[in-house]
Amino acid sequence: MDTISVSDARRAEAVGRTVRLRGWVRTRRDSKGGFSFLELNDGSCQGNVQVVAPGELPNYEAVVKHLHTGASVAVDGEVKASPAKGQATEVLASRVELLGDADPETYPLQKKGHTFEFLRTIAHLRPRTNTFGAVARLRNQVSKSVHDFFQERGFLYVHTPIVTASDCEGAGELFRVTTIDPDAPPRADGKVDYSKDFFGKPAFLTVSGQLQAETFACGLGKVYTFGPTFRAENSNTPRHLAEFWMVEPEMAFFDLTDNMDLAEAFLKRVITDALAHCHDDLEFFRDRVDKGVFDRLRGVLANPFMRVPYTAAVDILLKSGKTWEYPVAWGKDLQSEHERFLAEQHFDCPVILYDYPRTLKPFYMRCNDDGKTVRAMDVLVPGVGEIIGGSQREERLDVLEGRMREQGLNPDGYQWYLDLRRYGTVPHSGFGLGLERTVLFLSGMANIRDVIPFPRTPGNAEF
Ligand code: ATP
Ligand code: MN
Repeated sequence: MDTISVSDARRAEAVGRTVRLRGWVRTRRDSKGGFSFLELNDGSCQGNVQVVAPGELPNYEAVVKHLHTGASVAVDGEVKASPAKGQATEVLASRVELLGDADPETYPLQKKGHTFEFLRTIAHLRPRTNTFGAVARLRNQVSKSVHDFFQERGFLYVHTPIVTASDCEGAGELFRVTTIDPDAPPRADGKVDYSKDFFGKPAFLTVSGQLQAETFACGLGKVYTFGPTFRAENSNTPRHLAEFWMVEPEMAFFDLTDNMDLAEAFLKRVITDALAHCHDDLEFFRDRVDKGVFDRLRGVLANPFMRVPYTAAVDILLKSGKTWEYPVAWGKDLQSEHERFLAEQHFDCPVILYDYPRTLKPFYMRCNDDGKTVRAMDVLVPGVGEIIGGSQREERLDVLEGRMREQGLNPDGYQWYLDLRRYGTVPHSGFGLGLERTVLFLSGMANIRDVIPFPRTPGNAEF
């Protein structure tokens, strides 16, 4: 007898097979005819399979009739065509074994319809809900698409470090990594002496793998990293996490236009794959979370992304006649309200903003000849706002050193990075896509805490 998944057992092709299934009971319904229906889910798909447990089972009275929501079971039986609507198959059980009971007095997922806020407090059990099953499968599909897309295009997957001594963004949003005893730190000249620390200098969790990815791009051509990223920014928003996953391709010989083309093709591929492989889960999101999800995703696929210089976008915002919580002015950072106005109302499609003021962006972005802007690009999508940030990198040694000083960074700490410009420098570009923002975009889920298994936010590192 083969053990198969609920997903396989739901297919019409399974009819006639004798199989073993294992999973969790979502509901039990007892029929007047002296048998029971069990809705069984094992996470392999959005749907359950209905198990018909006849009263003749030797443990029917003692066990099956008392199975609780959440209990784990193993079921042997024959897959039959189902007479019921909405399901191709059902399983007529010849054996039902209780693996682990779930006490209905205390099991928190008794009923449906819990709020996402409540489910966050039981993040260890929310994988058993429809929503988090759908999110987990979608997240898995996006991860697969990332690798498929880049691998098919000849990119190398490189593993950039988690612990680093350089602050890529220069924004000071860093978590320190140390073995120094905070109650008795070694001191020199009245300050903590980090030369006595584990790495002999201050070290941090990475905010981006970009700088290290550049070293591989400037030697191997096209590379990408995909890993966890950490930012100690105190942004208590539905779009920020302290720990999130980022995909960062980095390409030698790519200018900003090549970079935009790649970003657009990449996002479209992620959407295409989600529509093809997560259809049932997207239907669930359509029915329960965001009724416009299919229209939004298909709309994005159907049209080219708008490409708009920052300066033109500021003009649009100024002329919009809207009152903003954060005022708009050239040289100011765009806030989520501005980004979403552009992508949702003004253009109603993804927008790539580029050529941002140099004062707003990190030192490594390539300076334009106007002396005011850099070759930055942000991709904004309806429903989320910024989903990708990227740029063409500054490949001219003297300009790069000047930019570091301008931003108060000491070039001494970045000699390895400057070597890429000192020896065989090439134009190159790259970007970072936030995995969780992508899942928000695809699902229509509202809060980033609900699209990562265990969210880390200010004041919160439970589980
Ligand atoms: P924001 O302005 O929204 O804070 P950012 O400009 O700091 O974003 P980048 O440094 O360009 O973002 O990072 C690249 C991508 O990583 C972003 O476009 C976004 O998708 C994602 N990202 C950045 N910060 C976070 C965060 N705190 N939580 C989740 N995703 C993030
Ligand atoms: Mn940020």
